[in-house]
Amino acid sequence: MRLLLVEDEQRLADALAYILKKNKYGVDTAYDGEAGQAMAETRVYDLIILDRMLPRKEGVVVLKELRKKGISTPVLILTAKDSIEDRVEGLDAGADDYLIKPFATEELLARVRALARRQANPLQGERLEVSGLSLDPLHCEVTRGRETIKLTLKESLLLELFMRNPGQVITKEQILNRVWGLDSEVEMNNVEIYIHYLRKKLSPMDLRLETVRGIGYCLKEAGGDVP
Ligand code: CA
Repeated sequence: MRLLLVEDEQRLADALAYILKKNKYGVDTAYDGEAGQAMAETRVYDLIILDRMLPRKEGVVVLKELRKKGISTPVLILTAKDSIEDRVEGLDAGADDYLIKPFATEELLARVRALARRQANPLQGERLEVSGLSLDPLHCEVTRGRETIKLTLKESLLLELFMRNPGQVITKEQILNRVWGLDSEVEMNNVEIYIHYLRKKLSPMDLRLETVRGIGYCLKEAGGDVP
């Protein structure tokens, strides 16, 4: 299960990320509202923990904009305020739950587990289907018809990103952030190398990763339109 944590108090953010990782969650951290929103828009997260008061863009504004764009990832709001108006505002904006600061980490973990359970589909190993292509992210296997191909973890993460955004252009920056993580030292040409690997593996499958010059890549059906 992958979590996005958006929290500007760096010490708190790092402490929470550490605890969540210890509890076997994959965690990416953003320290302001704009960065958090950009990451959330890749749609690869199973849950977003969103601080309410953030620099560059307020948490509630980020949440409203995500919901407006049809991104329904569960959101847990962290708020220092405890007035009824503030709670209502967060929930009205589309939050699934909220937690008032300061809180015990056990409580945060309990809320995260509860939100994960509330999801209709099991989050871990959730199979993705796009135009006849089926990805099993837990086992890193992609199937189309009778053909099953084993992928490496990075290839699987890369394909997952495309399959969660069918027909959409994914930028190299999004790929780098999502597949390698924000703090990664990995260079842009690693993205190109992995796209090359993935293209080779997908070649028997009537699907191609089209290059959108100067921007990124898009998953399309070979000889067809956008899936
Ligand atoms: Ca804050």
